[in-house]
Amino acid sequence: MSPADAPIPPIRCYDAARVLAPQRAGIEAAIADVLDSGRFILGAAVERFECEFADHCGRAHAIGVASGSDALELALRALDVGPGDSVVTVANAGGYATHAIRACGARPLYAEVDPATLLLDPVALALLLTQRPRALVLTHLYGRLADVGTVATICAAHGIALVEDCAQAHGARRGGRHAGSFGALGCFSFYPTKNLGALGDGGALVTNDAALAARLRALRQYGWIGKYRVEVGGGRNSRLDELQAAILSVRLRSLDADNAKRRAIIRAYDDALAGCKARPLPGRGGEDDVGHQYVVRCADRNALRAHLAGVGIDSEVHYPVPDHLQPAWRMSLPQMQLPYTERACAEVLSLPCHPALTDVEVRRVIAAVRAHG
Ligand SMILES: *Cc1c(COP(=O)(O)O)cnc(C)c1O
Repeated sequence: MSPADAPIPPIRCYDAARVLAPQRAGIEAAIADVLDSGRFILGAAVERFECEFADHCGRAHAIGVASGSDALELALRALDVGPGDSVVTVANAGGYATHAIRACGARPLYAEVDPATLLLDPVALALLLTQRPRALVLTHLYGRLADVGTVATICAAHGIALVEDCAQAHGARRGGRHAGSFGALGCFSFYPTKNLGALGDGGALVTNDAALAARLRALRQYGWIGKYRVEVGGGRNSRLDELQAAILSVRLRSLDADNAKRRAIIRAYDDALAGCKARPLPGRGGEDDVGHQYVVRCADRNALRAHLAGVGIDSEVHYPVPDHLQPAWRMSLPQMQLPYTERACAEVLSLPCHPALTDVEVRRVIAAVRAHG
């Protein structure tokens, strides 16, 4: 087979082996240290990562938990959200907040998104105030900070607890403040494909409130205040483990540089795709955006996706079904309509965007999207 006949390698949305390659030796050493320590649950590695991650976010406390979903649910439990309460969130962000709200026995109230950014529209939040929500889960979708300043002001004026879902936004900054430092609590996931990813499940919460931090430390471990003393109701086992924490300490060292690479890819896509049928979201690639997903909107999204697959380029839909139309949940929300949200779910497509993507690959993706029209 001549080189010209060699199959063109596919371009993946995320390529774990390549993203991890520069840190492989460090990760292996960190794993060996945990093995040598003989301690696998809530030891020195978790404590160390919690300190480092709190520092990175500019918060006093970080609490490691088992997943981003658990972080959201434990956040609401720590804030005493329960049956009879309602919690505002958006319906285009994958359903994670809805799971957490429903797990607490509370009711989700969906706010419409801004039709350009696809992030929560503060005007839509204001329309829901008559329903007296207890809390708001604000998702920094695709890696970009929502209008958190305006939202925080509304929340403060109406006694609504602000929980940030930062599972896609590790390291995003605005006005010198980091994702997770605007609300009462910031929730993070370390699922392997996130900007800060473990080699398995993991999550964390950050806060400046010592009392909330203490409640969360109890909630993640059966509600214990000390060994075998259950003082906080609603607890369970949701611990970050030593191996993942040790790996995350290594991965954290490259987070800012990896985010810079994602931003550069976003700007390259933005420049090259202006005027295409596949429309980029406006205003991306700034400091407040860590490029978790690069999303275009396309009226014939499924045709674009098939065209890309035909030339060996993977793409994904984040997310195809809005929460209020999910089969498991729609019966409880029969009248709900969210036109901007529903339209976005029908049009969005995420292109490959990760820190190990090469310039050649970015150009191949660009050429393929442009060829679609
Ligand atoms: C990934 C993700 C979560 C859930 O995190 P897990 O660790 O998979 O439970 C929550 N919210 C958003 C926005 C996410 O992208």
